[in-house]
Amino acid sequence: MNHNRLKLFVLSLDGTPYTLLQQALQQGLMPHFAQLLREGSFAQMDSVIPTISSVAWATFATGVNPAKHNIFGFVDRDQNAQLIIPNASNLRAKSLWEYFDENKLRSIWINLPIAYPPPKINGVMISGFLGTELENCVHPPELLPILKKCDYVIDPDPWLARTDRAAFMKELFRALQARRKITLHLLNEPWDFFMLHVMETDRLHHFFWDAKDDSRSPFHNSFWELYREIDQFIGELISMLPSDCALLMLSDHGFCALKREVDLNAYLQQTGFLRYKNGQAQELSDVHPHSRAYSLLPGRLFVNLKGRESQGSVSFSEYEGVRTEVSEALLELKDPETRASIIKQVVKREKIYSGPHADRGADLIAIPYDGYDLKARLNGAQLFNKSAINGMHTFDDAFLYVRHHSIQTMPKPALIDVTSTIFALMGLSIPKELEGRNMLGANT
Ligand SMILES: [Zn+2]
Repeated sequence: MNHNRLKLFVLSLDGTPYTLLQQALQQGLMPHFAQLLREGSFAQMDSVIPTISSVAWATFATGVNPAKHNIFGFVDRDQNAQLIIPNASNLRAKSLWEYFDENKLRSIWINLPIAYPPPKINGVMISGFLGTELENCVHPPELLPILKKCDYVIDPDPWLARTDRAAFMKELFRALQARRKITLHLLNEPWDFFMLHVMETDRLHHFFWDAKDDSRSPFHNSFWELYREIDQFIGELISMLPSDCALLMLSDHGFCALKREVDLNAYLQQTGFLRYKNGQAQELSDVHPHSRAYSLLPGRLFVNLKGRESQGSVSFSEYEGVRTEVSEALLELKDPETRASIIKQVVKREKIYSGPHADRGADLIAIPYDGYDLKARLNGAQLFNKSAINGMHTFDDAFLYVRHHSIQTMPKPALIDVTSTIFALMGLSIPKELEGRNMLGANT
């Protein structure tokens, strides 16, 4: 089909900030990555809204916005307003693996979030963090014994981080080594596209961000050691990749220190927008019909005019009225100590969603200032909380690296552009459905 066809290897580091890699490079911790920088381009990249991995990787996998791919958050509402955790079976746009199958290209995927249950593709699919039992996460199942031999885990148990941080840190290294082993094994198979997703970076940042710059922390050295190991792996990878192989690396969002968890449902309750039928709310069905709004994490707000919709009496102005009132209330939310504003911006759904599933999206999306992690429990939690998690996602500090090419940085690269760029790197024509742009500049 195209004589400039190239293989492509994608290495994704979940939640690794552009600025953190720069810090690691300045400290000389990543010599192999430093070598790659001399052979390619490295840029800061924007993520998706809301900035959460399931939305980010669904956008990456399809190259379209949530109103087309249908993944709006880590949790969502089904047709009966029950809470669900959406996965690959909820994807409504064509994914990269489907495009590759159509083009008779063999693809190998290790650990991509959202790719669960594993689609039966031409190649290998090992599901990422939405998977539960390894047995149900592997296509083809013949790979299971090899994965077990590699000591493979889908995701280290995050509850361990709350009870035994040292043990959890060890698990991160163990999981990374297992992914390295299975990658080196599968590199010997035939493939056209190969993606390894490292989740350990995101977990490290959520639970050990406080150790990053604190040399007195018992986890300070391990924090950076994980990046050293990733760099050693990059070195091995470069030496093994075939000469007709392109290389792209990326993260899906950045990270910053978490000051407070802010529960928007608690705030909506305090400000009179939300009521529950009884004290022990667990499901959306426990939301009182007279509530005007509720939230799902992170920062997604739904106007609730349900009781009246059935009577056909909800007018557009009534809907807009609630949106305006909720937005104004959110923008008034302040840090109890510093009195700093917590919400930077409230975006209307039509600004970010366009496509057949737009009506499933939130009516408003609140974007916080760095440090305020937006939660949305249904059980009447406190407005402000602090947990074992001390790092949170940021929108504007993801990274992108492409070997042997320059990256066009005007306008700033965004995650949704990566999909088109992948087609371009492989010498495939870019499907017209994709919303992002090919970011490749001249060869270097
Ligand atoms: Zn995360």
